[in-house]
Amino acid sequence: MEIKSRDLAGRIGKLKIGKKKVETPLILPVINPKKQEITPKEMEKEFGVEGVITNAYIIWKDESLREQAQKKGIHELLDFDGLVMTDSGAFQLMQYGKVKVTNTEIVEFQRDIEVDIGVILDIPGIGDFEKMRENLDTTIKRAEEVKDMIKSSKVLWAGPVQGGVFKELRKESARKMLELGFNYFAVGSVVPLLNEYRFKETFDCLVWTREVIPTDKPVHFFGAGHPMMFAFGVALGADVFDSAAYALFAEKGKYLTVDGTRDISQMKELPCSCPICSNHSVEELRKNKSLLARHNLYVTMEEMKRVKESIRQGTLWELLEKRARAHPRLYQAFLGFQNYLDYLEEKDPISKKRFFYLSKESELRPEVYRHKKRLQQKTITKKFVDLAPFERVPIEVKDMYPFGQREVPWEEDAKPRDVSDWDIVNGIIGYLYGYYDILPEDAVIERSKNTGRIRNVLVNKKLWLVLRASDYIPILHGIAWEMAKRGGWKVIVPDGASDHVKDGKSTFAKFVIDADEKIRPGLEVLIVNESGELLATGTAKMSGKEMVSAREGVAVDTRRLKPEYAPDKI
Ligand SMILES: [Zn+2]
Repeated sequence: MEIKSRDLAGRIGKLKIGKKKVETPLILPVINPKKQEITPKEMEKEFGVEGVITNAYIIWKDESLREQAQKKGIHELLDFDGLVMTDSGAFQLMQYGKVKVTNTEIVEFQRDIEVDIGVILDIPGIGDFEKMRENLDTTIKRAEEVKDMIKSSKVLWAGPVQGGVFKELRKESARKMLELGFNYFAVGSVVPLLNEYRFKETFDCLVWTREVIPTDKPVHFFGAGHPMMFAFGVALGADVFDSAAYALFAEKGKYLTVDGTRDISQMKELPCSCPICSNHSVEELRKNKSLLARHNLYVTMEEMKRVKESIRQGTLWELLEKRARAHPRLYQAFLGFQNYLDYLEEKDPISKKRFFYLSKESELRPEVYRHKKRLQQKTITKKFVDLAPFERVPIEVKDMYPFGQREVPWEEDAKPRDVSDWDIVNGIIGYLYGYYDILPEDAVIERSKNTGRIRNVLVNKKLWLVLRASDYIPILHGIAWEMAKRGGWKVIVPDGASDHVKDGKSTFAKFVIDADEKIRPGLEVLIVNESGELLATGTAKMSGKEMVSAREGVAVDTRRLKPEYAPDKI
């Protein structure tokens, strides 16, 4: 899959399955093949649903449904052209302890009815280490059993990631599924954890999986269908969700909201403006489960749209701070994000539109962690300003993201500080790249007549770099040749890809042989070939580590080098 936009470890991606393309993060409502409260077609038209999930085992078990599915295929059976994923009966196995179908049978069946995404019959569950070890071994054995069939079929097969709440088992499971050639990964056995409000452990299971799976491969957070979970799941790297909750909760008279579940029998108002709540009374929803399910589905779809929009705006952390207040256990799990800081920091873009300080938890943001790590390395300044929640910030970088885009809920001392333009440019390059000795003393620094902010930096009358007006992130021009002579900040591509990159065409992850591990999304970097020739500069779309492991998508948005900016002596 290809990543289009990102925030924290969350991503908006384009996932291609055969001829179908869907945008992630994606929510697949669960369809009961026997009883459709809302038909898939209606879901598509009225709710904007792009894909659904149904149960292959329930279809297989029912003779008439099985025959119809085998004859017409799953899409015609459901009367739906969108994405159809099927579950294999593993959930039934978890609930009832046994199923009547074998792994091979259900895999073949899913293949024959032409599902878009299928799942092997794994062994889910939560239990002690020995039991989880045993279940995992069986799951791996079953994946091996159908390995060849999986490789030769058109279906995108989900490799289940199991292992209970044990880190080493979850990681082993993910690694094994990756080795076996799966291209889609489903974090399993989440439902029993969620039912007990064990949110923190649920998130751990997702992060452990995501740490193993390359960034260009989708991860499905199986069973995390309550809209309350979406912002967290997405922020930690989940791409696909399924929701049985909208229907199951309606069955029990439960009204879903983004900050928890309400009992419809206890409600006097409908605090929602969806078409159902706008046109019906509490009384009607209480009596009519189908109306309640529809409201639940509206809320579910709406929250996923909100999460996606937050990624595009770079405000996903702000949404987490709000959502964490839904339940003390969820708040506890959010505080647990401090255990994921290395993981989040590697993936979080280096610049966003704003940095709002909204609660004590703003101090846990990856930007703060990144800054504190940065301060442990060399800085040249003697002057610092105290900018909460970052504490000591070198005065030269105070206009750069995140410091200059920061809004705090208190008055701050706004008096101007004495710092020269040269010090600012030198400080920014030093802070971001570690080079405090690269800016020539005779560099000419121009301020924009419109904004009054530093804009162009010239050396020997040639454009050396431009500070972007919005966030003071440097765009590399002449400086690129100087930087290339030193180590670091390089993305290395094969000599054969040189012309493509020199032309300014995207540097795809599949080209990348190696990349500096310090590279973060959003940073301006150098692209060189194996022979060491500087080809271009550009904006990293992935971290250095990610671009080495990923095969799909753009690693760097390439910017063509202008020879007229090259220093005289290279
Ligand atoms: Zn509603």
